Amino acid sequence: MIREPTKKKETSVTGCIRCGTCCKKGGPAFHLEDKPLIESGTILAKHLFTIRKGEPAYDNLKGCLLPSATDIIKIKSQKSARTCIFYDEESSRCKIYHKRPVECKALKCWDTREIEAIYDRNRLTRQDLMGDINGLWDLIEDHQERCAYETVLTLVDEIKASKTDPLLEKKALYIIQYDLQIRSSVIKKGNVDSHMIDFLFGRTIFDTLKSLGMNIRRKNGKHLFTTTIPSDPQPT
Ligand code: SF4
Repeated sequence: MIREPTKKKETSVTGCIRCGTCCKKGGPAFHLEDKPLIESGTILAKHLFTIRKGEPAYDNLKGCLLPSATDIIKIKSQKSARTCIFYDEESSRCKIYHKRPVECKALKCWDTREIEAIYDRNRLTRQDLMGDINGLWDLIEDHQERCAYETVLTLVDEIKASKTDPLLEKKALYIIQYDLQIRSSVIKKGNVDSHMIDFLFGRTIFDTLKSLGMNIRRKNGKHLFTTTIPSDPQPT
């Protein structure tokens, strides 16, 4: 999830008072300058998730949902909250303060010019981090192609327009199954930590379709479209 708009507030605050508000609105997105934080192991892949290219994401500056122009790699939130996983509620401190990402350094709630200047520039992508890992990168590219958001979003529109076209639903179900299978295969055969999957492949197509208003359910290990398909997408 991307943070709420960080518009300049009417406030007398001129410096950080460690209220924690910015850290409670979701973790930061990464930029190229943050690459060493991940390469050095300060921030692990299991702490991250990816909003894939083309996925509808909230643009804080424009104030609306837009297809993401590139991958957006972000720090995960704590369970059942949007608070960044590195925020310590008890001490109101960032656990990696001295090595925090550039967005955290730039985000000053009393003056948003710095964050606005870097917001969508030099975003770090999965290719920057894994493009030279043969095998794994091939899988990620293959997944990106077969589960491209351009295809998925077009299918959603077509299914909504046709209401119940079995062929379109079959196409969507194929993508859902492929997306789930590759995740499970990478965990089982590749011995990859399951907590890294959201970083490697983004959120599941199943979850995306549900958030876009598709009525899908799982029964006996299979996914099925149910009869009524709402016409209004549910923003994430
Ligand atoms: S990395 Fe630290 S400063 Fe940045 S949002 Fe998380 S807790 Fe806050």
